[in-house]
Amino acid sequence: MLLPVQLTAQELDILIRGGTLIDGSGSRQIRGDVGIIGDRIVFVGSGAGRSARRIIDATGLVVTPGFIDPHTHTAGDLSDPKRSRNDPYLMQGVTTVVTGNDGDSPTSIADTFARWSRQGIGTNAALFIGQGTVRREVMGMSDAKPTPEQLDHMKALVATAMQEGAIGISTGLYYAPGSYSSTEEVIALASIAAAHGGIYDTHMRDESSYTVGLLASVRETIRIGREAHIPVMISHIKALGVDVWGQSKDVIALVDEARRQGINVTASQYPYTASGTSVTAALVPRWAEANGALLKNINDPAVRPRLVNEMNQNLVRRGGADTLLMTSAPDHSIVGKTLEAIARERKESPIDAAIQIIQAGGSDVASFNMKESDIEAFMRQSWVMTCSDGSEGHPRKYGTFPRKLREYVYKRNVIPLEFAIRSSTSLTAQTLGLKDRGLLKPGYFADVLVFDPKTIDERATYENPRVLATGVRYLTVNGQLAVDNGALTSVLAGRVLKQSASREAQLK
Ligand SMILES: [Zn+2]
Repeated sequence: MLLPVQLTAQELDILIRGGTLIDGSGSRQIRGDVGIIGDRIVFVGSGAGRSARRIIDATGLVVTPGFIDPHTHTAGDLSDPKRSRNDPYLMQGVTTVVTGNDGDSPTSIADTFARWSRQGIGTNAALFIGQGTVRREVMGMSDAKPTPEQLDHMKALVATAMQEGAIGISTGLYYAPGSYSSTEEVIALASIAAAHGGIYDTHMRDESSYTVGLLASVRETIRIGREAHIPVMISHIKALGVDVWGQSKDVIALVDEARRQGINVTASQYPYTASGTSVTAALVPRWAEANGALLKNINDPAVRPRLVNEMNQNLVRRGGADTLLMTSAPDHSIVGKTLEAIARERKESPIDAAIQIIQAGGSDVASFNMKESDIEAFMRQSWVMTCSDGSEGHPRKYGTFPRKLREYVYKRNVIPLEFAIRSSTSLTAQTLGLKDRGLLKPGYFADVLVFDPKTIDERATYENPRVLATGVRYLTVNGQLAVDNGALTSVLAGRVLKQSASREAQLK
């Protein structure tokens, strides 16, 4: 009986005073204080009379849970001591990142976690095991169907990854080698992740009209959820290209119907009209890449006409050569130019120019292929969470979360502020099974963001994508200040978040 009394009397480590509190649940904002002791929030409400080692005046500022990003490409950043603080994310107010998406993850979950814990990381981090990674381990870049032995081997690799703490399995069914997998093969592996309490995250087979089409891909995802008994998350949901513009309506109807049937379907989304990919992934048909034979196929006169023809169709689908902007390439001279401009300079057709770029080592591109009305329709859904899908050469890695607030909440009023905060916090924590994160609530981990509603915004652009966002004033990660008065501190307070650990904690 003495314990609660002692607890209320105890000095706080941090008191955030007088802010506009948005707790992440979707509930309306209130004015109040947040108290932190150690790595936990101890109260949300009035801190009157409480003493604290550090008092933060949040008058005029908004206080929310730290943002959680379910789809990033940060595994390399977190493993590199020079980048492991994860500055682009901290300065967006992100306290937890997930990586290993799109079917592509580190091969060893345990080794990666051990390295991050040893070296220190600036944000919390969780990992998916990538289905493409597992397939490549067992079958290389073969487009064959796995033998029963190969399938068993892949299942065993997924089971190991899950035991080591992966939060689920990701696929990149649009990319090689994921695209060579049948739905049944994916279900077999997703079932293993499901048995360990994981979720299924997918870059779908087709977000456009390349192969099976957008709607058939959504149906495939729902089928995987139903037959593998696993929650499914559609990565970076979109309607890519003129052929499928307007189909957000049909996608939303399919997802809503599946949810009514009890299948746990959610999606992530980044708030940009351009996707980020490569010249090869955007234009080359997957058959031409099988067994790593792309360069050989390009030079084979018996194959090249068919390849050029299909690349042309894919270019039309994407919106033409002026919608592909080179963002990062071994040949620096092409960066910042569209494929159209490069083709004009070289007096070549756009496809010949694209083939030359691929032969010279390829290039990342920003591909302008989405319509605002589809983006807004998806964003309004209660099952859509914010993700950056951050990759080099696209402003989304530095700007996603502030941009969503500035552009879609404050400027255009597409969604209410509380709804936007929920989509970046508790909805994501709940979907991923992250225990005690994503809400401003006593007992929860003290991942707390304090931002200035007048200045929160991205500063990164397509021309200059690596510029930190503005408006994040304070940010605690597990109770330690990672951003203090607008500046990054030197602490690395992030933790590895293991799926099994959170599940065990939930069972207590
Ligand atoms: Zn993706």
